Amino acid sequence: MTKKMNVESFNLDHTKVAAPYIRLAGVTEGAQGDKIYKYDIRFKQPNKEHMKMPALHSLEHMMAEFSRNHHSQIVDISPMGCQTGFYLAVINDDNVENVLELVEKTLKDVLEADEVPACNEVQCGWAASHSLEGAKELAKDMLDQKDGWTAVFAEEA
Ligand code: ZN
Repeated sequence: MTKKMNVESFNLDHTKVAAPYIRLAGVTEGAQGDKIYKYDIRFKQPNKEHMKMPALHSLEHMMAEFSRNHHSQIVDISPMGCQTGFYLAVINDDNVENVLELVEKTLKDVLEADEVPACNEVQCGWAASHSLEGAKELAKDMLDQKDGWTAVFAEEA
């Protein structure tokens, strides 16, 4: 862990974090001054737990679709390959409170949903790999621990 890596999260000591948490992982400024804020939304404790693929996949579809009802400048929400969280990228919104609220509202929408949007072979690349119930469990578990979202490292918790 001595060499500085290009990717911000490769410089994060994953043994020191206390999931779930939401943390700003980077800011990229464009030539016109617009800024993209990238957040690390960590659902599961790295190297201890992970989200099962069908549940993670359904949660991805729902977060991608529902979050845009609560924020007008979302670039992307995408799952981490380690299956412990998601990255969220938003434009020109440096207010972490807005992001916390966005995640809370979106996960509450997940609990209310009675189907996974776009889980068919026309709109998705692996339509057989979904779990609405699994996604709801992940959302509920995350919401139940909302008080700890701003504490990223174990020593702050
Ligand atoms: Zn899909």
